[in-house]
Amino acid sequence: MSKNEDLQKRRDTAIARGIANQLPVFVERARNAELWDADGRRYIDFAAGIAVVNTGHVHPEVQAAAARQLEAFTHTCFMVTPYEVAVELAERLNRLAPGPTPKKSIFVTTGAEAVENAVKIARAHTGRSGVIAFGGGFHGRTFMAMALTGKIAPYKASFGPFPAEIYHAPFPIGYHGVSVSDSLAAIEHIFKYDIEPARVAAIIVEPVLGEGGFYIAPPEFLHALRRLCDQHGIVLVIDEIQTGFARTGRMFAVEYSGIEPDLMTLAKSLAGGFPLAAVVGKASIMDAPAPGGLGGTYAGSPIACAAGLAVLGAIEKEQLCERAVRMGTIMVQALREAARTIPAIGEVRNLGAMVAMELVKNGDPYQPDAELTKALVKHAASKGLVILSCGIYGNVIRLLAPLTVSDEIMREGLGILIAAMRELTATPMRAAVPA
Ligand code: PMP
Repeated sequence: MSKNEDLQKRRDTAIARGIANQLPVFVERARNAELWDADGRRYIDFAAGIAVVNTGHVHPEVQAAAARQLEAFTHTCFMVTPYEVAVELAERLNRLAPGPTPKKSIFVTTGAEAVENAVKIARAHTGRSGVIAFGGGFHGRTFMAMALTGKIAPYKASFGPFPAEIYHAPFPIGYHGVSVSDSLAAIEHIFKYDIEPARVAAIIVEPVLGEGGFYIAPPEFLHALRRLCDQHGIVLVIDEIQTGFARTGRMFAVEYSGIEPDLMTLAKSLAGGFPLAAVVGKASIMDAPAPGGLGGTYAGSPIACAAGLAVLGAIEKEQLCERAVRMGTIMVQALREAARTIPAIGEVRNLGAMVAMELVKNGDPYQPDAELTKALVKHAASKGLVILSCGIYGNVIRLLAPLTVSDEIMREGLGILIAAMRELTATPMRAAVPA
């Protein structure tokens, strides 16, 4: 039995099945865009810990900043005896957040917690309770975040009832025939059928659906949401947890639209692998909850904040926004070229280095091929490439390579992906791929 197989057996016995692992690949070491597993196999990592290491595994400056903080102190609790590194990171984020209105931040530990807190802040600010989110959106696994998530299996099934007054409108997905005006009409219907706008505290939206399939919100949609929120005094929350920190070619994806969010939720690549999340928003809204209303024992861990400052430094110094745009261009070009001879690739789309291909049967957007998608994730791994699937119908391959990956390794990874795809689709090999 290989070490990986042995570890998977131990894992199955020790850890509840509710936390699934996509691949039986137990990591021993990771550097930049490469992983090595317990059996000594090397993988190119196009998953980046689900968009967490935009600056690559163990970025030397992130590692050094965390090590320096580890030497100074590891935890005092910001709510008891605070520290400069968190204040400095908040100052940096406040300056980076789009729009001219003065900003304030809070730190928490996970993306779901950032979402929970954004709703708390919006409710405290407005004195209202309703929240509107979108079909296919993903906001986390805690109760409010799960309720806001617009996908039942596997995230919500068997876990209800959910908090009240959450409503979903369809996200505009041109490839599936849902236009911006369809989505906006659905929100008007919610205002007609379910809740009056004067009782809606927040609208929360991802600028690019992450788990939902890498569908890009058209700028005019975000503009319309901005207008709607202004008209009705609703807090507009932009969830940048997956899209943030240079991934899409801008520090935050919402910058493409030019709108100013009221609140932004941040996590994942904020601290390059350390658990840190934030809500950043207009100071007048952020200050609505009374002192003591927000917080958490680990909220704003000093090690994570030190890492966060190093991440922001690396993004600037290494010009990772520009890099993301270039990576996106190279990847999309290669995948579109492959799509000409691989009919299962229904659509290739990207915003910067957030790149996806949607797999369908018979070239039909309404015949998603989730089975092929699953097989491709496994087959690519067997050839040394880690990729992720996503999508409302589980038929989207998403690529989230670290933005620090070399051209050489990126091209090697693309080569593996395309070869794996050809092998699976050219012959009836799919059945032969080990389960
Ligand atoms: N929002 C978005 C857009 C996400 O992609 C995720 C995580 N995939 C979350 C929220 C939840 O973050 P976490 O898993 O850190 O709770």
